[in-house]
Amino acid sequence: ALVRRVHFVKGAVEMGGCPKGDRGEVAFIGRSNVGKSSLVNMITARKTLAYTSKRPGKTQQFNYFAVNDKVDVERELRYGDDIKGEKDFDSFYICDLPGFGYAKVPESQRREWGGFMREYFEGRRNLRVVFHLIDSRHGVVDEDERIMGECAEIFGGGKKGTTYVVVLTKADKNVKGGANGGGGKAGGGVIKMVRDKMREKGVGGNPIIVTSSETKLGRDDMWRYLRLAADY
Ligand code: GDP
Repeated sequence: ALVRRVHFVKGAVEMGGCPKGDRGEVAFIGRSNVGKSSLVNMITARKTLAYTSKRPGKTQQFNYFAVNDKVDVERELRYGDDIKGEKDFDSFYICDLPGFGYAKVPESQRREWGGFMREYFEGRRNLRVVFHLIDSRHGVVDEDERIMGECAEIFGGGKKGTTYVVVLTKADKNVKGGANGGGGKAGGGVIKMVRDKMREKGVGGNPIIVTSSETKLGRDDMWRYLRLAADY
């Protein structure tokens, strides 16, 4: 199994609060309600990742989760019984950025958070992948566009070894048919819209992964990129 365990590490509100970058890291960003927690649960095969810190407008922190934390794995090896010689415990961090799009969040706080985000994107050395989640029913809206622009500036052309990946969520509600790769025309509307926007922003060549947490569509495609952090 790729994922042995996942646990919450800490919340960070500034760079100094991030855990030591001693392993690969992926970040998830997206509007509130985009399906972020569901997707993280889907890819880590956890039903509830203690991942329910849902306080709109209050959770303005970067939530760190450790996948296959070595200390815990060792403890599990010592006391555990069901892992019998499995050694595939590559460890990495999942950093869950606060959901944006809440009108209630005051402008000052928004700016502060935006500043941290930029500093984090630019300065976090072990950051391998940024997953930008976009609801496939809505496409690129308001702040998505700004985030995409910033990511294009910072990560365009694979700078610093971080890959910017756009993830369409809730495809079962919109994008019909096999979307990743051989999708054909089905659901092409939103994909084309997103691709056009990406091109306009300068990240036209970056990956788009179509996902559904309901049907597990896109799980393997997500893992192709998660491996970049796991193999760090
Ligand atoms: P978050 O605020 O971004 O963490 O979003 P959640 O993961 O909590 O999801 C928000 C809502 O969308 C919930 O009601 C989920 O059940 C629903 N949802 C999330 N992912 C999917 C999906 O892939 N398909 C469908 N149909 N609904 C989803």
